[in-house]
Amino acid sequence: MRAKSVKKAAPAKAAAKAKQAKYVYFFGAKQSEGDVSMKALLGGKGANLADMAGLGLPVPPGFTITTEACAKYYEIGEKALHALIRAEVLDALKRLEKATGKTFGKGPNPLLVSVRSGAAASMPGMMDTVLNLGLNPDTVEAMITRTGNPRFVWDSYRRFIQMFGNVVLGVEHHQFEHELDAVKHAKGYTLDTELMAEDLQEVVARYRKMVKAVKGCDFPTDAMEQLTLGVSAVFGSWNNPRAIKYRELNDIRGLLGTAVNVQAMVFGNSGGNSATGVAFTRDPSTGEHKYFYGEYLINAQGEDVVAGIRTPQQITVKGSREWAKARSVTEAVRKAQYPSLEEAMPKVFKQLDAIRVKLERHYRDMQDLEFTIEDGTLYMLQTRNGKRTAAAAVKIATDLVKEKIIDEKTAVMRVEPSQLDQLLHPVFAKASEAKAKKITVGLPASPGAATGQIVFNAATAELWAKAGKKVVLCRVETSPEDIGGMNVAAGILTARGGMTSHAAVVARGMGKCCVSGCGELHISYDKKTISCNKLVLAEGDWISLNGSTGAVYEGQVDTQDPKLTGPFAMIMALADKYRKMGVRTNADTPRDTAKAVEFGAEGIGLCRTEHMFFEGERVTSFRRMILVAETVKCLRLSLAACTDAEERASLESELAAPLKQYNQALKELLPLQRKDFIGMFKALKGRPCTVRLLDPPLHEFLPQDAAGQAEMARVMEVDVAHIRDVVESLHEANPMLGHRGCRLGISYPEVTEMQVRAICEAAAAVKGAQPEIMVPLVGNVKELAAQKTLILKTMAEVEKAKKVKLQIKIGTMIEVPRAAVTADQIAAEADFFSFGTNDLTQMTCAFSRDDAGKFLGEYVSRGFYDYDPFQVLDQEGVGRMVEIAMTYGRSVKPNLKVGVCGEHGGDPKTVAFCYKLGFNYVSCSPYRVPIARLAAAQAALKQ
Ligand code: PEP
Ligand code: MG
Repeated sequence: MRAKSVKKAAPAKAAAKAKQAKYVYFFGAKQSEGDVSMKALLGGKGANLADMAGLGLPVPPGFTITTEACAKYYEIGEKALHALIRAEVLDALKRLEKATGKTFGKGPNPLLVSVRSGAAASMPGMMDTVLNLGLNPDTVEAMITRTGNPRFVWDSYRRFIQMFGNVVLGVEHHQFEHELDAVKHAKGYTLDTELMAEDLQEVVARYRKMVKAVKGCDFPTDAMEQLTLGVSAVFGSWNNPRAIKYRELNDIRGLLGTAVNVQAMVFGNSGGNSATGVAFTRDPSTGEHKYFYGEYLINAQGEDVVAGIRTPQQITVKGSREWAKARSVTEAVRKAQYPSLEEAMPKVFKQLDAIRVKLERHYRDMQDLEFTIEDGTLYMLQTRNGKRTAAAAVKIATDLVKEKIIDEKTAVMRVEPSQLDQLLHPVFAKASEAKAKKITVGLPASPGAATGQIVFNAATAELWAKAGKKVVLCRVETSPEDIGGMNVAAGILTARGGMTSHAAVVARGMGKCCVSGCGELHISYDKKTISCNKLVLAEGDWISLNGSTGAVYEGQVDTQDPKLTGPFAMIMALADKYRKMGVRTNADTPRDTAKAVEFGAEGIGLCRTEHMFFEGERVTSFRRMILVAETVKCLRLSLAACTDAEERASLESELAAPLKQYNQALKELLPLQRKDFIGMFKALKGRPCTVRLLDPPLHEFLPQDAAGQAEMARVMEVDVAHIRDVVESLHEANPMLGHRGCRLGISYPEVTEMQVRAICEAAAAVKGAQPEIMVPLVGNVKELAAQKTLILKTMAEVEKAKKVKLQIKIGTMIEVPRAAVTADQIAAEADFFSFGTNDLTQMTCAFSRDDAGKFLGEYVSRGFYDYDPFQVLDQEGVGRMVEIAMTYGRSVKPNLKVGVCGEHGGDPKTVAFCYKLGFNYVSCSPYRVPIARLAAAQAALKQ
């Protein structure tokens, strides 16, 4: 819906206007120019404010300066932008003055505004906000006359100078704190609330003087100048480091910028009959909706609730009682000091509760609301789809289906696949938790279990995490600057702050365990200690958090697997109902296979058999084979070329001993491999299992360091010098492109034969087993053909010996560019293709899998690649290679079975890409199977 004025204009005028970009959209009762469909242009906050006003809800009027204006700010610069939008802004201000009956920058009834950011994707707390804009000495006087409440007006003014001074002028917080403390100190006060009107007036005078000293200019008094600077600051904050980091972490891309919302101020801090709060229509941690979940503060301004400085009160009596119980607050104290909104302002509560129901029905999703009560009148300042944990996302989506608010397909689309990861990982083992020493209990801000070493700042958290340590970030309270540290921490602990504090909101968004508001803890940044009663913990000590109960424990607590029932099972069942592409897993042991089947895997897409050779004693047999493999190969080649009988006899005798060792080692390995396969086939209960023949270069099985070689020599009773010689002879400058994959099977056919025999014999032993044999690293169809001949021959031998008929598919990995571009030839020999996108990425992009980490980070941050191509398939390049191979392959065999088994198989974006190309399945690690199932369902539903 466009502006009414545009709609009403005469056709010619309308055409002329349409050509001119419109940068400012008004909102307010019956006057909103925007609506919910305009999120890209107005940002989420702007679009929803317009929408709420349209629904007849009490929204203070205002206007939104569009995200296109933000893009222009960066394109043409600040000055030119303001020239471009000035007329529209002045026009909107006039309308705002009319709607409120107030005047901007003047008495007798001054209009004050808030200036807030709001992009299309919500980025809580990452960008700047200024409240009370429009205050100056004149408007302060006028407001005092009007309200008769000088304390409130001076407090508003000092808050404005502090916020504007920090956000717009760049004066540091502590410089304001210093002035405030000086006045408090002089008066002997401890709390801000003790400051009287005269004191606040003095604070204002000190602030203005300090700003002048620091910035070299007066604090602006002209309201229009304040607004222009405020708008610029918000646009500028789109690209502040924390906003950039937040977008990076949350994969927010392709947005124009932030919109700016300029809205008439309403005051939650204008007395005891005023309040401000934030609320969720359902619990954002668990998804429960036993009661209306939220917090508020009487006589406070918006930022006070989220800043975590004061302890917020609960919205409902029920919530308030639960809160009090968890903190051992008696009912009498609760009622007197922390009453719920339901008790303190019952009428407003009723109105707010009705709005909650209306908004959730309207948006058909859990809402995160901000409201202010000014002198008993309720105003809605924001609604948006609330950020939630994975547990809450799943519960809310399934509950909304049961409540018939959304349908099944919408529910499937509502859960972010990668978020499921949070639900699959361990929780504290009950017995271990029961034994653990509880230090204190805070608020259960974000569920999960975390054990880690204590760190006190984000930088240390990042440093230690990089060194492989598990850390718990402990802060008095967190701020947006801490985001990098929060991201790498196993858990977050704060001494202050409620359930909607920065730490809580951000942690939930990240799916990170968080306990907030542990009032009993004293955190000293100077001493680097946490103390609680008599206990003192230092940096590096272990601590454990239960984000679901708020419990904090000393030391490490054991974890256990989570339960995959209830809403999780329901969302997975719905995903499977709408999913069309198969999901398999990459697993090499019966245990992993069983876990993956529990997670819903429909088979194994990649069993890397080499992992089996590392288990227990068998590595010794395998190494015995490797020690002579090269000698056997060389002697055989010499024999093949030799025609002289005497020389042949000598070569044969030279070959006898190593060949014996070679065959003996393989003979030892055969039953072990067979046992592995039997275990896996049994765990699969008739599901298919793609077994890949040996792939890595042989040197990977030998110790490369002197100590390891000495130990191997001791165990195998061979000369260490011999081991060193073999290691040296196997050395390759570029092993990833070296003697590996099917090249091994070609050089050492007995290895292929042993593996195939083990697979076939296991298949003969397990009813319903469905093995598929996969040849790795094929680049040329002749390689596949040669290995296939060997496989078929071995298979026939087992069939004959065991008197069985085996149905085993033989296929190949497509992981070499040459294979991709000759896939038509290869398909003629293959029953299936499985894309090894790890190697295909390595060879297509010429990025070493082992070394590219050194520069890929920079490549991604500078935009050369959108994502790390080893995590998210590079669709433009590697994806093109996949598409070519797929088209060529299916041109020869239209029903060719195709899957992917590189790490990308569990990445939602890659899953969607594979679905679009017509893959039969994706295969990924066990813990990513549910993610892939959901991503595959979403891909099918999006089509
Ligand atoms: C691949 O290359 O994508 C693959 C699955 O094989 P590996 O990672 O074992 O080389
Ligand atoms: Mg590979």
